[in-house]
Amino acid sequence: MKGEVPYDDILLEVSKLEVIYNRAVMAIQGVSIKVPKGSIVAILGTNGAGKTTLIRAISGFIPSEYAEITDGTVIFEGEDITSKSPHEIVRRGLVLVPEREKIFTTMTTLENIKSSSLAKKEAIFSLETVYEYFPILKERSSQIAGYLSGGERQMLAIGTALLCQPRLLLIDELSLGLSVQVVSSLIEALKRMKKELGLTILLVEQNAEAALKIADYAYIMETGRVVFDGPPEKLLAHEDVREFYLGIKGGKEKSYKDVKQYRRTRRWWG
Ligand code: ATP
Repeated sequence: MKGEVPYDDILLEVSKLEVIYNRAVMAIQGVSIKVPKGSIVAILGTNGAGKTTLIRAISGFIPSEYAEITDGTVIFEGEDITSKSPHEIVRRGLVLVPEREKIFTTMTTLENIKSSSLAKKEAIFSLETVYEYFPILKERSSQIAGYLSGGERQMLAIGTALLCQPRLLLIDELSLGLSVQVVSSLIEALKRMKKELGLTILLVEQNAEAALKIADYAYIMETGRVVFDGPPEKLLAHEDVREFYLGIKGGKEKSYKDVKQYRRTRRWWG
C-alpha cells in the first residue's frame, strides 16, 4: 500500500507536495510522506531526485532558493505549516540539522553548540545530552571548530540542532564524504537517540545501505516523485531496489529502461 506507514501517531504528514524552481523547473511533484512519532523515516534516491528540495520545503527554506510550493500541504502535529518561515517552523520543534560545512570555524566547539540554542522553558535536550551521545565534542569543547574532522563536524551539527529542542529532527546527507566507520558511529548515536530520547528523525540519504540499517520506513525518490516505499525489510528484498539503489546484483540482468517500464505498469506492493 503506497504511502501507508504502520503507525497511528503521525507527527509530520506531507501531502501531494509540488515545488517549482524559478517558475520553470518542477523539482518535486505530488510527493506524499508520513513520519510517525518516535520513528526514523528515510528519504532515499540518487542525485537530483528532489530529496533536498523536499526537506527544504518542509523546513521552510524554499523561498531562499528562488522556489515556491505550488501545491500540497505540510502538516506538523496537526497544524498546517506549509510555506511558514524557517524561524516559525523551528520554534514548533521541526529542526533541520545545519550543513556541517557551515559551522563557525573560528569559534570554539562549545561556542558553536550554544550558538543556535533556543531559550525554551521546557528544554528537554541539554549540553549534557549532546555530550552523552557525542563525548568527543566535550573533549574538543575549547578547540577551534575549524580543526574538527568531517565526522566531528557532523556531530557538532547534530548537537547544535538538539539544543533547538527538536520534536522532529531533519537530517540532509548524514553520510556524505564520511568513512564507513564514522557513518556507523553516527548511525548508532541516532538509533540510541530514538530509543532513549524518543526522538523522531527524518533522514535524507544517498547512502541507502546506511539509512536502511536504522530506518523504520523509507521512501525512494526519483525525478521528483516517490517511486518505492516500505519498511526496510521489504525494500531490501525487492530485486530492483537492491540492484539500482544498493548496487547488489542478483537474478536476471535488467536494464534501467526495463525497470522504469515495470514501474509504469505495476503498483508497488501489488
Ligand atoms: P542531490 O543529492 O544531488 O542534492 P537531490 O535529490 O537532493 O539531489 P535536489 O537538489 O532537490 O535533488 O534537486 C531536484 C531537482 O531540482 C534537480 O533537477 C535540480 O536540478 C533542481 N534544482 C535544485 N536546486 C535548484 C535551484 N536552486 N534552481 C533550479 N533548479 C534546482
